[in-house]
Amino acid sequence: MTRRISKSLRIGKVTVGGGAPIVVQSMTKTDTRDVKATVNQIKQLEDCGCEIVRLAVPDREAAQSLAAIRKRVSLPIIADVHFDYRLALAALEAGVDGLRLNPGNIKEKEQIARIVAAAKERNVPIRIGVNAGSLPATFEPEAPLADRMVSMALQQVRFMEDLNFDLIKLSLKAFDVATTIQAYQMIADKVPYPLHLGVTEAGLPRAGAVRSAVGIGILLYQGIGDTIRVSLTAHPCEEVFVAYEILKSLGLRERGPTLVSCPSCGRAEVDIIALAEEVSRRLEKVSKPIKVAVMGCVVNGPGEAKDADVGIACGKGKGAIFRKGRVVSTVREENAVKALMAEITSLDTK
Ligand code: SF4
Repeated sequence: MTRRISKSLRIGKVTVGGGAPIVVQSMTKTDTRDVKATVNQIKQLEDCGCEIVRLAVPDREAAQSLAAIRKRVSLPIIADVHFDYRLALAALEAGVDGLRLNPGNIKEKEQIARIVAAAKERNVPIRIGVNAGSLPATFEPEAPLADRMVSMALQQVRFMEDLNFDLIKLSLKAFDVATTIQAYQMIADKVPYPLHLGVTEAGLPRAGAVRSAVGIGILLYQGIGDTIRVSLTAHPCEEVFVAYEILKSLGLRERGPTLVSCPSCGRAEVDIIALAEEVSRRLEKVSKPIKVAVMGCVVNGPGEAKDADVGIACGKGKGAIFRKGRVVSTVREENAVKALMAEITSLDTK
């Protein structure tokens, strides 16, 4: 997979684009005016691997909270501003590391120019975040949706370039996965800037993870995308978890263990679903990027486990613990999880 090489920029301490690792973003779901709750959530996000966090800035009070939040967290923060350009100015004043503007609702050129001047002064990048849902109905109404999104983004890009500003990142999100993919594919050839990928309002975790994986995954596979955000109606750490699963499945990032587990079938002689769930829960505390296999029987088990760093293939009332495909011990079913975890813990020491 050849990656589209975009212009690189920095959002706080994080490099975006220019071939840097794809960055995982999320968004806080707390009231930004509540500094304590927001700081707590940002720290949770940092712990679960989030690399850049976006905060909604719906009013002046929220903008004023940003300075206090900024001082208490180390993750780069991006202010998400709609409608009122003065909130963007206040966010910059508060020391945010990035801005996200929606060209569908901050349209006055003079206002945008003032934001750009303030961002340039501070070397702060701006994401032009086009959302299909907030395109003005009067904007190229006859054109297909993806084309309209691209036109809107390009119009804003050209305007910022005319102001000699190039710390630009772009996103073109829609709920419809095909529209999202088309819009990103079109813009990727037209501008040199990094692209932030996402499928907007993707839904509850199960459906949302699938929609995001399809949309983001297809684009990533085509080499498009520098940062990603999975939007889910759930705690933001769920978004981060799914984002890494997408990146891991394409071999683009490593983070924590990958669990390979068989779906179970009539041949299984243990409750493989319960076993895999238990192992998955325990793996949450493991940070090593290892592959762990949990297989229900000896038909495919040993073969599949061969690829894994550590694995278990179960038989009637017992399990064979594998290490790189080699059986290292056989344990009773009730000791299976414990033995597998012990093997994982010892990985560094053997
Ligand atoms: S590993 Fe065994 S139990 Fe699991 S799905 Fe395959 S055949 Fe069925």
